[in-house]
Parts: sequence; structure tokens; C-alpha cells
Amino acid sequence: TVATNDQVELDSLPLELQLELKRLKDDFTVDSKRLKHIVSQFQEELQAGLDKYGSNISMNATWVLGFPSGTERGKFLVVDLGGTNIRVCWIELRGREEELLITQDEFRLPDELKTGEAQPLWDFIADSLETFIAKHDLGGSEEEPLQLGFTFSYPCHQEYIDHGKLVTWTKGFEIKGVEGEDAVGQLREAMAKRNLPIRLVALINDTTGAMIASSYTDPQTIIGAIFGTGCNGAYMENVGSIGKLDTQLPQDTPMAINCEYGAFDNAHTALPRTSYDVTVDEESPKPGEQAFEKMSAGLYLGEIFRLILLELHGKGIMFKGQDVSKLREPYLLDTGFLSGVEHNANPGMLFDSPTRDAFKQKLNLDISDKEIVFVRRTAQLISIRGARLCSCGIAAICKKKGITSGHVAADGSVANKHPEFKRRWAKAMAEVLDWPGDRKEDPITITSAEDGSGIGAAVIVAMTLKRAKEGNL
Ligand code: BGC
Ligand code: MG
Repeated sequence: TVATNDQVELDSLPLELQLELKRLKDDFTVDSKRLKHIVSQFQEELQAGLDKYGSNISMNATWVLGFPSGTERGKFLVVDLGGTNIRVCWIELRGREEELLITQDEFRLPDELKTGEAQPLWDFIADSLETFIAKHDLGGSEEEPLQLGFTFSYPCHQEYIDHGKLVTWTKGFEIKGVEGEDAVGQLREAMAKRNLPIRLVALINDTTGAMIASSYTDPQTIIGAIFGTGCNGAYMENVGSIGKLDTQLPQDTPMAINCEYGAFDNAHTALPRTSYDVTVDEESPKPGEQAFEKMSAGLYLGEIFRLILLELHGKGIMFKGQDVSKLREPYLLDTGFLSGVEHNANPGMLFDSPTRDAFKQKLNLDISDKEIVFVRRTAQLISIRGARLCSCGIAAICKKKGITSGHVAADGSVANKHPEFKRRWAKAMAEVLDWPGDRKEDPITITSAEDGSGIGAAVIVAMTLKRAKEGNL
């Protein structure tokens, strides 16, 4: 059986690798008891964010007031500033019963923009919009502008839906002159310079978009979550439960909350951080921020792995006598690489040429059979910990709200591309929420989110325009 082969494999490792593996296993294992402890602190931080501005988890009011009816219709423009691309979409919503139509183009964001000045960023986005509307002949005029949703997936303080003061960049972005400023105003200025016939209607976080896009067709949607480059969730709260909010809206008005829970435990009291997590944090552009995200999101998993390998080389245990200069390059290894290392092997086999090739190509390193066994286990430990931690944010929202069933509309590279993520996440959910072992099915499940950053943004624009028309803003 696999288990026996696994053991044979492990026993065949040199003692020093066995010892390292044992140490890593101790460091990266998060047991049920620890998970429950994390979830309970998580619930407290979520509550604090609703009660008070300036709390660690910011629980941002999004001004998305309730779920869509499914009857939203119309044609909308969306621009999504993702981590690596800018995507522009033209979307025709035709109601939940009919298939929507979508035309989209991607524009590769030049790397230097991510750490440069604000102006080139907004110019680049406005140019992309200009190119797109000309190419697809979308028209639009001063009297009848194209209605735009702007998906901007960074923590923003929104005083209304077409406003968003960037609190801090995350996910490695570090563009000067945007933090503390209204991102909507800055994009509007760049569009105005070009006389674009566009009206920016709403700023949208990807989590809120995922929740709204999915609920457009699936009424069982309870949460929108991103398990990708970053990590975050959104859910629906009642205005009356958002203590910090000063508004005329009736107390029972539903309001989507973008939790921004990647910041959970920035005080470092609950999460079992390893020395690698400390290094990732210290070497990031934002030390002390996004503590939870740095242990669970796709941007960081491969980096943690890289740090481990580098350390073992330094100890003289791995890649002896080889040139590890490539391995020294920060963020060289992404989640795809990590999941490849974990899955490219047949269990129990010491011959694993996909991994050998991957190490050669990406790192110019010759990896031995024993080292392949070791790296596979290590990759597994990192990914399992990530998935288990990811369950904590969702479990905390569910416990806090008394939600016992429904669909978590999830998007992002980790959720979609890591073959084992969902199973590991579900197992951890069962442990935290004490689901019975003999259950027929899981009461809370991950569903693949509809394209939240595109379709979700379009639905939110439609909902916002409808409210405005009814004089109900
Ligand atoms: C951002 C969130 C976003 C998440 C997923 C985080 O780094 O702060 O706004 O939802 O990444 O993209
Ligand atoms: Mg995205």
C-alpha cells in the first residue's frame, strides 16, 4: 500500500534529512486544538473590526446593500487590477436565467509599475480602457457614458461605493502616492485627461465580487473568499450590527463586509509562526502586516519552501557542492511549482523525473532521489498548513454569524489549481466545527466562484445604478 511505501521511502532517507523532516513536521503541524484556538481569536478580531475603526481586521463596509435579485440586466464595463494583469471586460447581464455575454482583454502590467509612482499606474489603466473601448467600438458619450466597475483588491476605506481610500498596499505592491488617497479619484483624473466617455460607478473588492457574482445564480452562497495570491473573505452583515458605522440606513439593511482578514493576528499571539514565516515577514515590503496572509496565501507558500531549501543547503545537508545562486532569488518559486513538487511523483517511487526536471529548469540544481522524497514531504507540510489556516477565517465568520450551511464561493490560484486544497480545507472545517464523522455530506462547502472580479463587479454596478434610479442611495 501507499502508506508502507511511504514509510520505506522515509526510512531510506539519510538520518540528517529524517531529522530535518521531523523538525519541520513539528513546526508546520497545526492540530485541531490549535485550530480552535485560532478560530476563537479570529471571531474576536472580526467583532472588534465591526465595532471600532482602527481595529486590526478592518471589516470594511462596501456599500453593496444585499444580494442581487438575479434580474439585474444591462451592459457594463469592468476594469480589474489584479496582481499581474489588468483585465478589461465588457459584460452584458441578461438575468439569472440567461447566459451572460462577456468580451475581455488582458494587458500585462509592467513589473516596474508595481513599485513605482502612482501616475504611471493610473495612466496605464486609463490607456488600457481607451484601447479596449476603441477596439470593441463600445461608443459611450458625455450624455450616455459607459458604466464602469473598478475591481481594486486591496484594503480600502469606503465612505460610499464610488470612493475608496487605500489603507495599505498588500501582495507585494508598493506604489507611492496612493496609500491614504482615494483610488477612485485618482483613476477618474486619469480618465478625465483622456476624455474617456466613462462613469466610474463602484469600487469593488474581489471577495465581494465573488460573493455577489455567485449569488446571482446560486442563492446558497454565504461567503465570497479568495484563496489566491492573497487571502480574504466577504459576507453579508446587517447595518445594525456594524457598530462603528454612522449612517441613516435602516438597521436591518444588509451590507456586504469585506473583512480584510489577511491581517488577522498581526500582533502574533495565535498563529504558530515558524522561523521561515518570520523571515518572509521581515523581508517583505510591509513587515508586521498581513500576518495571516503571509502564512496561507499563494504568494508566500513557494517562498517559505525556498527559504527551507536554502537553509538546508547552508547547513550542508542539501544540494551539496552545487551553485545555489538561483535559489537565492526571492519569490522565484510560485504555488504552481510547490504543488508540482508535491504531485508530480507516484507515491512510493524514488524516480520522479518531473520534479528533477523542474529543479533543473527553474533552479539549475541537480536533485537526488532522496532529496526528491524530502522536498515532496516539505511541500506537503506547507500546503496542508496553508489549507488548514484558510479554514479558520471561514469557520470564524460562520460561527460568529451562526451560519451552519451554505456555499463558500471561492476563487484564486490556490483554491483552483492546488488539487488537494479543497479536501484539506474541508477536513479542517470538520475539525473546527465538530461536524459528525458519519455525515452524508459537508454542510458548508467550497464552490467555484463565478468570475467575481469581472461579472461580480458588473452585477454590483447594476445594483448600484438601480438603487440610484430609485433614489435609494
Ligand atoms: C487584499 C484583499 C484581497 C485579497 C485577495 C489581500 O491582500 O488586501 O483586498 O481581497 O488580497 O485578493
Ligand atoms: Mg484577481
